[in-house]
Amino acid sequence: MYELKTQVRVEEGLHTRPSTQFAKLAKSFKSDVEVIRDGLAANGKSAVKIMLLGVKQFEEVVIRASGEDEEQAILSLKLFLLDEQAGVGIAAASNDAVVPASLTAAPHTACSRKEGANTACKGIGASEGHRVADAFVYLPEVLKAPCLRLAAGTEEKEWQRFEQIFGQMRERLMEQLDASEEDRNIIESLLDVSADEEYHGAIRQRVLSGCDAASACLAVGDELAAALEGVNDPYIQARAEDVRGITRQLTLRLLGKEDVCLSELEQPCIVIAEDLSALDFARANLAQIRGIVCMHGSATSHVAIMARAHGIPAVLGLGVSLDSLRSVRQVALNGADGHVWFDPEEAVIERCQAAEHREQQQLQALQDFRHLTPTTRDGRVIEVAANLGTLKEIHAAIEAGAMGVGLFRTELLFMDRRSLPDEEEQTRVYTELAKAFAPHPVIIRTLDVGGDKPLPGIQFPQEENPFLGWRGLRMCLDRPDIFLPQLRALLRASVEGNIKIMFPMVSDVDELRRAKALLAECAQTLEAEGIATGQPKVGIMIETPAAVLTAETLAAEVDFFSIGTNDLTQYVMAVDRMNARLAHLYRTDHPAVLNAIRMVCNAAEQHGIQVGVCGEAAAKPEMIPSLVALGVTELSMSSTSILRAKQVISSL
Ligand code: PEP
Ligand code: MG
Repeated sequence: MYELKTQVRVEEGLHTRPSTQFAKLAKSFKSDVEVIRDGLAANGKSAVKIMLLGVKQFEEVVIRASGEDEEQAILSLKLFLLDEQAGVGIAAASNDAVVPASLTAAPHTACSRKEGANTACKGIGASEGHRVADAFVYLPEVLKAPCLRLAAGTEEKEWQRFEQIFGQMRERLMEQLDASEEDRNIIESLLDVSADEEYHGAIRQRVLSGCDAASACLAVGDELAAALEGVNDPYIQARAEDVRGITRQLTLRLLGKEDVCLSELEQPCIVIAEDLSALDFARANLAQIRGIVCMHGSATSHVAIMARAHGIPAVLGLGVSLDSLRSVRQVALNGADGHVWFDPEEAVIERCQAAEHREQQQLQALQDFRHLTPTTRDGRVIEVAANLGTLKEIHAAIEAGAMGVGLFRTELLFMDRRSLPDEEEQTRVYTELAKAFAPHPVIIRTLDVGGDKPLPGIQFPQEENPFLGWRGLRMCLDRPDIFLPQLRALLRASVEGNIKIMFPMVSDVDELRRAKALLAECAQTLEAEGIATGQPKVGIMIETPAAVLTAETLAAEVDFFSIGTNDLTQYVMAVDRMNARLAHLYRTDHPAVLNAIRMVCNAAEQHGIQVGVCGEAAAKPEMIPSLVALGVTELSMSSTSILRAKQVISSL
């Protein structure tokens, strides 16, 4: 036996790719290999076991080998661990890549006919428009282990059955390897995990000792995913999702079931779901989604915002049991007033179709406002800008006549990723955005995660009140590893000249000062590195009552304010913006909220800074007159609302 202690210099530690490559290298030797960290030993030929050690960069491990080529093995493995770049180029990409949706998305239950239902329900109108289409009930089925005891002597046959299905799944993955360069690295790591002794070997052991393959697969998958989630490293935790995805696919096939997900929608439909996460949304085939009906959510939950951004009518917070809707075949909805009809009568279908037709005509008529600069009758120019979350939305915003971007939600851009992209990639994204809208301003908000927007790759603590918790700027100030690359990327992209930086969820002037100090530090470092930067204007969102009540102090520190009425309303009214039951109290036109907006506008005026609104209130025709009267000069909204807002302003 031969062993030695060494430091691990591999960048980002022994996560997926480096572990996989280490295991591959170890397997090329005949000797048994172990990696030991803090007294815990892992089989050095199992990538998963190594990952579970959670070894970070610059930590020390012991490598032990025993066998005929032990000395050689130890030396090569040590060299690997000392190489900062070992597996890193691939690793970074693998963490960035999108997991194929077919492997991770939840399944749905297909609908069957519910005779003569014509059930009408009322929820919250979250995205305007009438629609009629076939229903797609997106109901994740919880897979249950059949827990069968195999008849003696049939174990090997059951194992062969598993192997066959396992082979098919791997083949399918291999095909995707050729098809998509982008997903290549993540698929490779899925293949590695699935072939690992800790997974494949552990399932075999269970099947050969008499457990049916589906139950064995579910049990091993659950245990392994839980173990990965327990490692204090977001990259490794993200692998738990891979394990669950593979396990789900294998188990479904072993049980002879089908799994369809929102990315695979082939027909136009209205999706009926308990709730849709931003991640579901990011992965869905939106071209086929004509409408959305959710049992939860409200007009300012993020699914509503995304539905509006894509012009998909939506009714949320329906509050009925999704189970009772399993067999619905057709749906009609009115996304403005929140009415939904399940299996509607012919008369309802005709009414909704006629209304949809009228809406299309009205939209056509609004086209005249596209290139118009909206001006009130007393000569005030109001900028109408777009709220965006991805680069894919640029085209629609420009088509709609957006005068720049009033809010770019960077967190949505990265929602369908496993981790945040690096500085280089962010610089490219922000530059593309700035170029697309030049010379109009583009306000990019720094990462605003937490609340109802957790982000894959960032570990959030369990909190009693996530909306009052570690979110927005609070999180960023604690995580310079996430915040600084974003600030550097924003400064670099600012050479375009039209980028403005905006910090979300400010409660205290000290938070703002710290953020500005970090920004200044980044600018200095970039200068020292000889990298060109611009001098972006810096602003904040006004979303908390604390920011309203200290607006004068804050105004002295920034170039602009943008009022986030979605959160501001929730915090002023003490009403969770997601709570459908309290929707009657969640009112942006409430005197309390309007007074808050007035105070902010006054403070902005005193300090000569611009004030905009980028919450959903900016798009409401009934709110626009009050906002403009209070002194707001920029309104930012979903692209689908821009034309009408321009029309309303022009009539003031
Ligand atoms: C807001 O709070 O009004 C806002 C625009 O931010 P978000 O909806 O992303 O929280
Ligand atoms: Mg907000």
